[in-house]
Amino acid sequence: MSFIAEQLSRVQPSATIAVTNKARELKAAGRDVIGLGAGEPDFDTPDNIKKAAIDAITRGETKYTAVDGIPELKKAIADKFKRENGIDYDPGQCFVAPGGKPIIYNAMMATINPGDEVIIPAPYWVSYPDIVLLAGGIPVAVEATIEHNFKLQPEQLEAAITEKTKWIIFNSPSNPTGAAYTHDELKALTDVLVKHPHVWILTDDMYEHLVYDDFKFVTPVQVEPSLKDRTLTMNGVSKAYAMTGWRIGYAAGPLELIGAMRKIQSQSTSNPTSISQWASLEALEGPQDFIPERAKVFKERRDMVVALLNECEGLECPTPEGAFYVYPSCAGCIGKTAPSGKVIENDSDFVTELLETEGVAVVQGVAFGLEPYFRVSYATSTEALTEACARIKRFCAALK
Ligand code: PLP
Repeated sequence: MSFIAEQLSRVQPSATIAVTNKARELKAAGRDVIGLGAGEPDFDTPDNIKKAAIDAITRGETKYTAVDGIPELKKAIADKFKRENGIDYDPGQCFVAPGGKPIIYNAMMATINPGDEVIIPAPYWVSYPDIVLLAGGIPVAVEATIEHNFKLQPEQLEAAITEKTKWIIFNSPSNPTGAAYTHDELKALTDVLVKHPHVWILTDDMYEHLVYDDFKFVTPVQVEPSLKDRTLTMNGVSKAYAMTGWRIGYAAGPLELIGAMRKIQSQSTSNPTSISQWASLEALEGPQDFIPERAKVFKERRDMVVALLNECEGLECPTPEGAFYVYPSCAGCIGKTAPSGKVIENDSDFVTELLETEGVAVVQGVAFGLEPYFRVSYATSTEALTEACARIKRFCAALK
C-alpha cells in the first residue's frame, strides 16, 4: 500500500502548470517556443502598489497579522464591494487569503461532508473539481456548450440540482472560455437557485475587471440580493492588478462560513503575507485608471487572436466577453494526421503535436472538462501572438 494518502490518487496536478513547465523545458533545451499556456497578465504590478509594499517593509509591517487579514484591508474590501458591486458587507464578513485559490479551498474544506455534490459548469477552471475532491465532495460537471457560448442554461442547472447539492461554483468571466454572463443570463440562473434554498453559491469574480466592448459585469448577489445569505463572493488582486505572485485573494459572505474558513486558515497557512496585504490595500484604494487602459490592450489582442484563429482550417473560435483566454474548437482537426505521422484523436494529441511541430504551447480542453477544444491565453505580446497564430495556421494546414 502506498504511503501517500488514498484521496490524493483522485486528484490531478494542474494541467496548465504542466504545460507551462513543458514549454519551459523545451525552451531551456534551445527550442523556439511560444507559451500561450500561462494564466497571468504579462503586465507588471503598478509602481504605486510596489511602493506600498516597500513602505510597509520600511515601517516594520513584517509580523504576523490577524489570520484573515489586517482590518485596513478588510475595510477596503467591504468598500470595494459597495462601490463596485453595490453590495453591503461588513468588514467582519470579509476574508483575506494567500490567493484566490485558498479562498475556494478553505470554503470547500469548511463545508463539504462526504458525498456532498458541487455543481461545476464545464468548461471550468482546472482547480475546482480537484479542490472539491480533496475536500471529500463529488464534483458534478455540467457541460456548457459552444452553441450557448459556453454558458450554463437555467434548465441544465435545474436538472443538475439534487438534495445532495451543497454548492454551485460560478465563474464569470470564465477561465478558460472568457465567457461572461449578462444581467439577464445570470438572473435566469439565480431564479433557479432561489427555488433551492439548500444550495450555496461560490462566485469566482477574479476576472471582473477584464471585460470588453462595454460589457457590464454583474455578480449573483447584485442580481438577486436574496441569495446573499448563502453566497460567498470571491475576488482577488492577481489578475486585475497584475499581482499573481503576491498571493492575495479575498471574499465576503455569511459570518458562520467566514468563521469556519478562518478556522481552516488558522491551522494551515495562517495569515497571508503582511507586505502583500499592504500592497493590496493600495491596489484597492489607489488609482484605478490603468485597469481600463490594460483592458483596452487585452481587447485588441482578443480581437486579433479570434480573427487569426478563425482563419485556421478546422478551428472555430467564438468571441468571448472577457478574461484573457479564448477557447477554440479543434473538432475539424480530429481524425487528421499530423506531420509526425500521428493521427490526431483528441485535443491532447492536437496540443502535443502543435507543441512538437511548431513550438506553440496551449492547454488541452480535456483538462477543463470540455473536448475537443484548447485554451489560448492572450496575455502575451502582440508580436508573440501574431507569430503563434501564424504557426497554428501552418500546423492546421499541414494536417492531412
Ligand atoms: N479563479 C480563477 C478563475 C482563476 O483563473 C485563477 C487563477 O488562474 C484563480 C481563481 C486563482 O487565483 P490566485 O492566483 O489568486 O490564487
